[in-house]
Amino acid sequence: MPQNRRFLLQRRPDGEPVPEDFELITEDTPELADGQFLIRNHYASLDPAMRGWMDDADSYMPPIPLGAPVRASTIGVVEESRADGFEKGQWVMGLHALEDYSVSQAGGFTQPIDPGMVPEVTNFLSLFGAVGMTAYFGLFDVCEPKAGETVLVTGAAGAVGSIVGQLAKITGCKVIGIAGGPEKCAKLTERYGYDVAIDYRGKDQAALESEIAAAAPNGVDVIFENVGGIILDAGLENIAMKGRIGLCGLISEYNTDPVGARNLWRLIVKRAKIEGLLVADYVERFGEGAATMGEWASAGKLVVDEHIDDGLENAYEAFMRLFAGSNQGKMILKIA
Ligand code: NAP
Repeated sequence: MPQNRRFLLQRRPDGEPVPEDFELITEDTPELADGQFLIRNHYASLDPAMRGWMDDADSYMPPIPLGAPVRASTIGVVEESRADGFEKGQWVMGLHALEDYSVSQAGGFTQPIDPGMVPEVTNFLSLFGAVGMTAYFGLFDVCEPKAGETVLVTGAAGAVGSIVGQLAKITGCKVIGIAGGPEKCAKLTERYGYDVAIDYRGKDQAALESEIAAAAPNGVDVIFENVGGIILDAGLENIAMKGRIGLCGLISEYNTDPVGARNLWRLIVKRAKIEGLLVADYVERFGEGAATMGEWASAGKLVVDEHIDDGLENAYEAFMRLFAGSNQGKMILKIA
């Protein structure tokens, strides 16, 4: 069996993760038992949610055990198989870990994929993976935008946000995006079709509130929230009557104590509602989302950006891009 490099969680991060929280080790891959197969991981998805899995906290998924490799969605090729339905050479995707090789079993979450169905196999981690499905079902199922409405997207230039903005435009909405820095803001309007881009860097809540108000004089009907903190509070200040807020993520609070939305009073004033969403709830409908977004992508209505860093040894630096904002699209780590 081949040697396996594994990126382990050795210590639970206290605030922002530091390199000492992790260790890259090399060990033998285990012998396969009946029903198991070995995957050579080619690409791993680096997601903000992985930061939450590193905490010893009650969540929708158990914490990553200390000493275990960091859990991640990967795509790869079956190297050896003792499982029916999984053949050597077959491409698969599933929830595995940051390691060269993962052992999986039939009946689990690992699914075969067909690279011939997509322009790039990495698209299974972006548009046709959890990120694309979060955007699709989070926007359409939870936020229910209608043509002519105004949609505000935070984390607007990121993997989820960039797709949400384009889907809202396809729906016929006016779309406002909040992102960090002039480069990302230019991308919002020039590449993703946002009507207005707001750069949040260096601004306090009052400044953000007035920029949103200027862009949406009648208020925002939908907020697709990826960030939290003062950005969420500034959006709440501008929510329109019967507005809907899809709470997708709170990345500004993943390395800090919770900040909390302090502007909930606006929900009462505007009879608005806020609803948390989790992409895992939509697994059985992924085919529907993929088919529709695939058509839009083929028609040139939907673009997707991927930021691919190379090498398992660079896992920490690549992961931390998500919190520094230095990823330009879906953050992916090339392993093989
Ligand atoms: P991403 O947006 O591609 O990358 C993270 C981005 O967040 C960074 O590029 C940065 O963009 C921004 N950011 C980081 N720290 C920030 C801070 N302190 N304040 C403001 N912005 C900050 O990542 P993603 O995978 O698309 O995830 C986006 C959000 O969706 C996350 O909150 C994630 O947890 C959530 N999510 C939820 C689900 C679900 O099922 N609920 C599924 C997938 C993702 P700037 O340069 O613009 O600051």
